Amino acid sequence: MPKFKLEYIWLDGYTPVPNLRGKTQIKEFDSFPTLEQLPNWGFDGSSTQQAEGRSSDCVLKPVAIYPDSTRTNGAIVMCEVMMPDGVTPHPSNARATILDDPGAWFGFEQEYFLYENGRPLGFPKDGYPAPQGPYYTGVGYSNVGDVARQIVEEHLDLCLDAGINHEGINAEVAKGQWEFQIFGKGSKKCADEVWVARYILLRLCESYGLDVEFHCKPIKGDWNGSGMHCNFSTTYLRETGGKEYFEALMAAFEKNVNEHIAVYGPDNHLRLTGLHETQAIDKFSYGVADRGASIRVPHSFVNNGYKGYLEDRRPNSQGDPYQIASRVLKTIAEVPTP
Ligand code: ADP
Ligand code: MN
Ligand code: MN
Ligand code: MN
Repeated sequence: MPKFKLEYIWLDGYTPVPNLRGKTQIKEFDSFPTLEQLPNWGFDGSSTQQAEGRSSDCVLKPVAIYPDSTRTNGAIVMCEVMMPDGVTPHPSNARATILDDPGAWFGFEQEYFLYENGRPLGFPKDGYPAPQGPYYTGVGYSNVGDVARQIVEEHLDLCLDAGINHEGINAEVAKGQWEFQIFGKGSKKCADEVWVARYILLRLCESYGLDVEFHCKPIKGDWNGSGMHCNFSTTYLRETGGKEYFEALMAAFEKNVNEHIAVYGPDNHLRLTGLHETQAIDKFSYGVADRGASIRVPHSFVNNGYKGYLEDRRPNSQGDPYQIASRVLKTIAEVPTP
């Protein structure tokens, strides 16, 4: 029987942003294992801010498995962290707070910077490159540099090999800044895949001697920050919708503005300034095709009789997609459907 290398990955207890952790166990299976075949495992929570040293065991419960084409017989196993009883979610386990809804669909647009020696990849040692303009969706050495595209392409292939539902990639507005988009049906699937895609990117960049900078405003001045727009819909929004329901939904989002901002990523006041295609952090607004609004309403939504998906533009690149999906679905659940 082949021996499989199972990389169990999970989110640690650091706040406000959890880090990815992972360790490998070797197990024999006839063929690539299913989720049901994977045992729970454990780790030392006292080293990840998830337990005291005196009683340090936390439980890893597999929730999704992905082929890992970087290793022979490799798999990446996304796990939830559970208390020692194996059934109670650990307080750091935000995934467990997401309402189960197979009809909820999410699309996250993850922006990030590649970083070398504490500076965006392609920035000169001293000073700055030419101002923003040509970098977004750009081509050519002076716009994208020499290795960035290679990394981005390798990352895309590794994610597709893993079965992650990438929808696209592009060079972003600032030099050294990139984006990938992932879409998933079901309330947890897209968030799982964003975390696994982040894991694959971080690990890939190790061998290039590069870091991935997820902070939402890493460079001061006239350089774009990084977001993670959250596109969402439910069965009701897609199939019934209507202006009245939409307006009630937007009122619920406005009422919960602080609760949303609290989980939309740290330091978001540096990015949500009202400039650079953002709404100010203390304001809530929505608008058709309005990229300066908190929530952008696609033209298609209005043209289809207020049916379809909406785009919350406030979540930032460092936000936890589990906490974001959880909050969005909680606010939606507050609005009664006729
Ligand atoms: P932008 O102009 O903001 O980059 P895109 O059109 O590129 O917008 O991205 C919109 C995203 O919305 C897509 O990547 C997709 O994942 C997501 N999306 C499309 N339809 C739905 C839907 N019905 N429910 C949730 N998300 C959706
Ligand atoms: Mn986009
Ligand atoms: Mn973008
Ligand atoms: Mn967008």
